[in-house]
Amino acid sequence: MSSGDSTFDVVIVGGGPVGATLGALLRQTPSGRTPRVLLLERALPAERALSPERSRSPVDAASTPDLRVFALSRASERILRAIGGWEALAAEPASLAAYERMHVWPMRGRPRGEGALNFDAAELGEPNLGHIVTNSALQRAALAAFESAGGCVQQGSLQGVEFLADRVRLQSSAGVVTAALLVGADGGRSVVREQAGLGSESEDYGQLALVANVRSEQPHEHTAWQRFLGEGTLALLPLPSGESSIVWSLPRVRALELLALPAEDFSAELTAASDRVLGGLELVSERLQFPLRRTSALHYVRERCALVGDAAHSVHPLAGQGVNLGFLDAAALAETLAAGRAVGEDPGALRLLRRYERWRKSENESLALALSLLNRFLAFGDGELGRWAEQGMGWVGRSAALRRPFAERALGLSGELPQVARRA
Ligand SMILES: Cc1cc2nc3c(=O)[nH]c(=O)nc-3n(C[C@H](O)[C@H](O)[C@H](O)COP(=O)(O)OP(=O)(O)OC[C@H]3O[C@@H](n4cnc5c(N)ncnc54)[C@H](O)[C@@H]3O)c2cc1C
Repeated sequence: MSSGDSTFDVVIVGGGPVGATLGALLRQTPSGRTPRVLLLERALPAERALSPERSRSPVDAASTPDLRVFALSRASERILRAIGGWEALAAEPASLAAYERMHVWPMRGRPRGEGALNFDAAELGEPNLGHIVTNSALQRAALAAFESAGGCVQQGSLQGVEFLADRVRLQSSAGVVTAALLVGADGGRSVVREQAGLGSESEDYGQLALVANVRSEQPHEHTAWQRFLGEGTLALLPLPSGESSIVWSLPRVRALELLALPAEDFSAELTAASDRVLGGLELVSERLQFPLRRTSALHYVRERCALVGDAAHSVHPLAGQGVNLGFLDAAALAETLAAGRAVGEDPGALRLLRRYERWRKSENESLALALSLLNRFLAFGDGELGRWAEQGMGWVGRSAALRRPFAERALGLSGELPQVARRA
């Protein structure tokens, strides 16, 4: 199949990790005719530039390797294994590393002390708690899996959509294509969501997440560290290089003050915020900033259209769940469409797409709400409610039985999992 063909079963707009993974899953049809799938991406990895929203801090403009990293859950690992993308990631040891422990502690607590939440893979009978992977390696692996499954990738930006009775017609900078189903995997500012009239509601957290790489005095011990600060959260994610990636969420004004500091002063502030859990921290990269906002699509589907990943929901990054939820959306939608195909249903039929919406929407919304509450009461809680929240965290931390559901959530193994994400 070449991109010269203009009629497809499914057109996916957005070749980020979620869109590309969905494409690869769709091409792995267990029975019947393999669907023709086109992936439309405005900036393929080699050319991919940072959008203005993801702009580099004006202070440190030196070019650096990919600073965006994700904590991938076990469920995501299984989905990536199913498309053959995991092997490609594992072949890039500089981009993928397992982490074995996680320590989360409140402002008034100590990393492994009373009131902290401590998770250990060995205690849970798991080989690890998940993997840290760079965004670019993940996107490359998912795109390669899609292409080797015979999917078609086109570089272009979606410009317009026309919904017809039996198909959808897309206008992009690369030309015109038609499909039975359009999938929006085009991120938090989804054009598909807007063009399809699916609506959204959002909450501006008034915060920026600062992302950078740091060198630490003490080794990171293949451990993910997270501290609630009273004015945000700080996560230290272990990188294969021995350095750590920070995600430091703060009120916008405070974040901008920190971005304006020289590297040495920034490092000192960061070391203090980390409670010296890894000793002194030294900034070794530029600093990226991400405005934080929760967005939920009012509807995930309509006749001939469905949304997945950040196009359907953007959540607070404090638990590192965003792309993991997106992979579950992709697997759930692929499974729903495969079930429809097995009985000859039109992939764009609303009746079929509603099954996917019922499956994923309430689960994503409850997690988004839980993250907003954690942000309000633990990350920013300094009043009575904040103290109760810290106490609650302590109770959970002291009980192995209470900790278990949190660990399963972090591993992505709770809820109604798509087939490919279940234990083999
Ligand atoms: C600071 C920070 C830290 C995070 N850490 C984690 C973490 O540890 N773990 C985790 O699971 N999640 C994390 N997330 C969330 C994660 O970044 C997102 O959930 C994830 O990137 C969503 O993937 P996606 O494929 O849905 O969208 P995106 O990655 O946004 O991809 C969308 C794609 O669509 C393309 N596109 C957009 N518009 C068009 C158009 N009109 N035409 C054609 N193409 C288009 C874009 O170029 C892009 O490639 C974090 C987020 C932030 C801000």
